[in-house]
Amino acid sequence: MPAQIIDGKKVAEETRKQIREDVEAWVAQGNRRPHLQVLQVGTDPASTTYIGAKTRACKDVGISTGTTHLPDTISPKELKKDIYKLNNDDTIDGILVQLPLPNHLSSHDVIESIDYRKDVDGFHPMNVGRLAVDQPTFRSCTPAGILELFKYYSIHTKSKHAVVVGASNIVGSPMAIMLSRENSTGKATTTICHKYTKDITRHTIDADILIVAAGQPGLIKAEMVKEGVIIIDVGINRIADETTEKGYKLVGDCDFDGLIKKASWITPVPGGVGPMTVAMLMKNTLLAAKKSIYPDAE
Ligand code: NAD
Repeated sequence: MPAQIIDGKKVAEETRKQIREDVEAWVAQGNRRPHLQVLQVGTDPASTTYIGAKTRACKDVGISTGTTHLPDTISPKELKKDIYKLNNDDTIDGILVQLPLPNHLSSHDVIESIDYRKDVDGFHPMNVGRLAVDQPTFRSCTPAGILELFKYYSIHTKSKHAVVVGASNIVGSPMAIMLSRENSTGKATTTICHKYTKDITRHTIDADILIVAAGQPGLIKAEMVKEGVIIIDVGINRIADETTEKGYKLVGDCDFDGLIKKASWITPVPGGVGPMTVAMLMKNTLLAAKKSIYPDAE
């Protein structure tokens, strides 16, 4: 039997509907409408597309938003000054610096300069650290969205072997933390693979749940997994396609057509993890506005 499709678009729409209701209830109580401010350094077209999707999502759920456009020649000092201004602006709840940044800027430095109480991407060391010790935190949106998908489809991670391919700070690493903790969301035995892992098939073949975030189209093929595996394909890769209007199409890191015959569940690309990432950003922005994570902070 072919795998069942994990429909991230549908789950994200339902999640956003709930967030929209929560935002309106919050505003109806006399509170200011939550606000997310995005900073874009330069004019990278992929970044512009992602920001467009986030801006539309904000409008859809009733979160106010704005984008600060900065030149790609901006100095680290000037960029931090802009971030400090947003940190000190009481009308702004969430701050997101769109990555990647031009090479002369350190994303670590830039992220650390964001007030962790407004870090709705969940990338600040304070939030990552709290994630690692099971404290309430802004959870990185992509892995948090994947856990929401598991919840929606009653896919249990407890005592399973979860294998995460990719160890970046924004996806693979927080995903592995969330899965491996002995808390309500994780409880999985977790293996993390990256580009230095020798023979990744040794690990993927044993996975009950395989989460792939490597940015390598076609990396995972049917012969690398066992029957009944649950596949979460995080990859978003543009590959040339003359038959499309844009001249490219989006594919994940997994050979969908081969894997669908062997897996029990699988996410498509697009329409799988991506829409959930955006929905979780909306959720984090509302949490920031309500000061739900850091209630006692000044
Ligand atoms: P990254 O480049 O920062 O990290 C890639 C990771 O994959 C690294 O840890 C690297 O060691 C590992 N890797 C690379 N080649 C490998 C190989 N052959 N075998 C094993 N590991 C390998 O990327 P990222 O920011 O984590 O993003 C990964 C992918 O996910 C990209 O395609 C990106 O576009 C996509 N992405 C999607 C969403 C979403 O919402 N769906 C969100 C973020 C990123």
